[in-house]
Amino acid sequence: MRSGIINGAASATLFAIMLAIVSSPAHADLMIQNVTIIDPVAGETENQDILIGNGIIAAIGERGSIATFAPVDSLDGTGKFLIPALWDAHVHLTFDKEIGNAALPLFVANGITRVRDTGGLLSEILLVQDVAKERGPEAPVIYFAGPLIDGIPRVYDGTPARFPNISDGASTPEDAERLVDELTAAGASLIKSYEMLKPDVFRALIARATERKLPVTSHIPLSMDAKAVVAAGVRGMEHLRNIGLSCSDKADTLLTERQTMLREGMKEEGSTLRSSIHAAQRPIAFGSQDAERCGALIKALGDAQVFQTPTLALNTRGAFRQFLEPRQREPFEHLPRAARDRWNRFADDAAETSIDPAYVAFADWSLGMVSQLHEAGVPIMAGTDTPIGLLTPGFSLHLEMETLVRAGLSPQEALASATLRPAQFFGLEEKMGTIEVGKSSELVLLTANPLEDIANTRTVDTVITRGFVLDRTKLDDMLENAAPE
Ligand SMILES: [Zn+2]
Repeated sequence: MRSGIINGAASATLFAIMLAIVSSPAHADLMIQNVTIIDPVAGETENQDILIGNGIIAAIGERGSIATFAPVDSLDGTGKFLIPALWDAHVHLTFDKEIGNAALPLFVANGITRVRDTGGLLSEILLVQDVAKERGPEAPVIYFAGPLIDGIPRVYDGTPARFPNISDGASTPEDAERLVDELTAAGASLIKSYEMLKPDVFRALIARATERKLPVTSHIPLSMDAKAVVAAGVRGMEHLRNIGLSCSDKADTLLTERQTMLREGMKEEGSTLRSSIHAAQRPIAFGSQDAERCGALIKALGDAQVFQTPTLALNTRGAFRQFLEPRQREPFEHLPRAARDRWNRFADDAAETSIDPAYVAFADWSLGMVSQLHEAGVPIMAGTDTPIGLLTPGFSLHLEMETLVRAGLSPQEALASATLRPAQFFGLEEKMGTIEVGKSSELVLLTANPLEDIANTRTVDTVITRGFVLDRTKLDDMLENAAPE
């Protein structure tokens, strides 16, 4: 299998560097033999051979049925399960300076070869992208939004410090159009819209992004009802954020009140204003959910195929405290020391406090909402929000898929949420997301069947990406050396 990196202007030096950093050299071609394919659409097929080359799957057939003209390297897939490589559809690579680029190998070592960065300053995310490109197969491909596009005041403007400056503010439609143009020129793959946008600015943002062929994913602006956001042409929504406000039988009154609070709070700090709105409205909204009204919204989301990235592991962490389970906590050891110590302190402190019933109610609501969305045919994507919420880069995606299954997705559907759905979000489904001839040869071998238990996506044996075969020894090595000491 020829590597895209080595292809073309291959120099002897570059080739030598590449050989040095991976355990297996780049292949002219590779045959994976006698493997069980686990495809997010077609399901399970046993005893298959798969020939890959030039970055794509060249042939798939029953064991022993694929003829090759020249000898090819082979990889024994006996007893193993082959899935498309995974995506984490919601990450913030520039959020935690103490973690920094140590996150990159953690994704790949967990079978994740593509990530969607949903908010960070352009200058910073471009630097991370440069590092990722240098590291080749040991870093994921990054699809980035650049800064959150917020209104005025902005929530993430650097004050207080737990709201780092990762946003830009648009107060007029012209501002929004200019920002979309700048991000398009800088190579952004999507636009992330935030909660303080005014309706006319939000609509202008979507219109310009659509012209530029950039999908917009949103936190539903507080100034709008969710159905109006759908009608505006949004492609995605994150965290189920603010959907609950629009599902209340008091939704219209709450909206009017919010619009007043937003007008009167123009001079306040953005994060304070948002918190005070949520504090005033969420208890009322969650205490008055209206099945009929919510059903109409869910139908609209299904009709418009608005991708939902519910970040269920994040939404349920206050109630379930998964970060105290050894399999969630042990991965902290792969973080740089300062971050690891901080996370451990935070987890220990959290363990000492009692669980707030509001967290339990929100976790239940989130699981129930995902179940309904999924039943209505709304596309669901697996995204974590890592490194927020003590969710370790890479490892946390497996928890997200498990939590999606807890919400009612089948294991196969949960697998689709981390493979085919993100590809569809970006219109890349002809190129990747399933295991078919002509599609991407970014693949992951597992030692246990994820359709029997979605937790088995953790049993990563080998990652095939960008022309390289990263075996378990190599992946362990990457984990071991992720954090500079
Ligand atoms: Zn986020």
